[in-house]
Amino acid sequence: MAQTKSALDQALEDWILSWASLLTAPESVLWWPGLAVGLVGAVWFGRDRALWGRAADYWRELPVDAGCFIANSALPFLLSPLLFALSLIASQGAAAFVGALLGVGAIGAPEWPLLLLAALAAFVAGDFALYWTHRLFHAVPWLWQSHKLHHAPPVLTPLTAFRFWPWEQVVHLSGNMIGQGLGLGLVAGLAGAEVPALTVLGVNIFMLAWGLAFAHLRHSPVPMPFPRALSGWLISPHMHQLHHSSADQHRDRNFGTALALWDRMFGTYALPEKGERFRFGVDEAHDRDVGIILAVLDRLLGMDAPSEKGEQFRVDEAGWYISDEALQHVTDMWSRLWRSVGPAALCFFAFCVISYLLSVAVGSYRSIEQLHYVLVVLFALAGAGLARPPFGVAGNMIVRLTLLALGLAANFVAGAFIYLVRYGP
Ligand SMILES: [Zn+2]
Ligand SMILES: [Zn+2]
Repeated sequence: MAQTKSALDQALEDWILSWASLLTAPESVLWWPGLAVGLVGAVWFGRDRALWGRAADYWRELPVDAGCFIANSALPFLLSPLLFALSLIASQGAAAFVGALLGVGAIGAPEWPLLLLAALAAFVAGDFALYWTHRLFHAVPWLWQSHKLHHAPPVLTPLTAFRFWPWEQVVHLSGNMIGQGLGLGLVAGLAGAEVPALTVLGVNIFMLAWGLAFAHLRHSPVPMPFPRALSGWLISPHMHQLHHSSADQHRDRNFGTALALWDRMFGTYALPEKGERFRFGVDEAHDRDVGIILAVLDRLLGMDAPSEKGEQFRVDEAGWYISDEALQHVTDMWSRLWRSVGPAALCFFAFCVISYLLSVAVGSYRSIEQLHYVLVVLFALAGAGLARPPFGVAGNMIVRLTLLALGLAANFVAGAFIYLVRYGP
């Protein structure tokens, strides 16, 4: 009897295959036409060699960026029940609400203009959600402790786009999925029928276009502007670079991902001068204790010798990226991150591949679902460990365990919800 694959098996297989087709799959963020467009922009707008800074800075950030890329590429698989459930709940909720309010009744098979509208609604609403999750991570001090990882490097490369702690990425992904679900639900409610987004090569047409709109230059030193009229609507690479500036007057500006509309609406819009240069990084006065998160991670993974009592939460008073001492601190940071996350990420990847192959050989897909929860536990542990509540050792442990329990509960509830939707009670 043929056994059909569950959504989870499919997601895991997609993740493993995504590594083989990183450059060739249109849904991949590193799809080659997007990279090629970025390269053309870099050659054209980045001719001034003074823009590029010191090679040593790039090498120093590479291990952290690469580690984050590997870890975060697994998230869509790890969180597939949660993300699927969030978008389903959002779209069905919005469809019911809008349908009841001003629905026009069933329309039969939707035509392509309606599909285009659905794609636009999902893109715009998803982008709106990202504006607010991003802004939240700047506004709340302990969330900023996490987001600071993205802002820390003094140089920007396309890999910086993936430089987030996985648990932060979970929030952005979830927000984006809820937004997309609401957008689709809105159109479905208006049309009185489910309307899928218009796709080209299997990708929402607007997301495909955004990927081809010099998206990789956002995280680069290339000060590429968009034409003036367009800059009021879309965030150009140069505008996102302003977001990474360490200068006081640029702080908390240009939170948007694709659309500049939200920054204009909510008073955070800033247009850089033509060719304006920025010093990237986190301002010393703004904050300086990324080391704490890494210290917790080190302890959590048990790959670092325990430090003196009280030492692990010491705030380093040295300025970041400024003094030699600070540079040394950063070098220590990546070597510690590499030592702790590098082997774990590699083991984790090997573990997934081996488990998958085993389960295929044995013919039992159930083991994959169990594996999924083991991995969720690991990630939830890491996420909970990264939080830095100020309640002393016992209090912090309770907060972390609560976070862990909440993370797991959310995923189990999501899994149960999907099961009910699929197979009925
Ligand atoms: Zn930011
Ligand atoms: Zn950025």
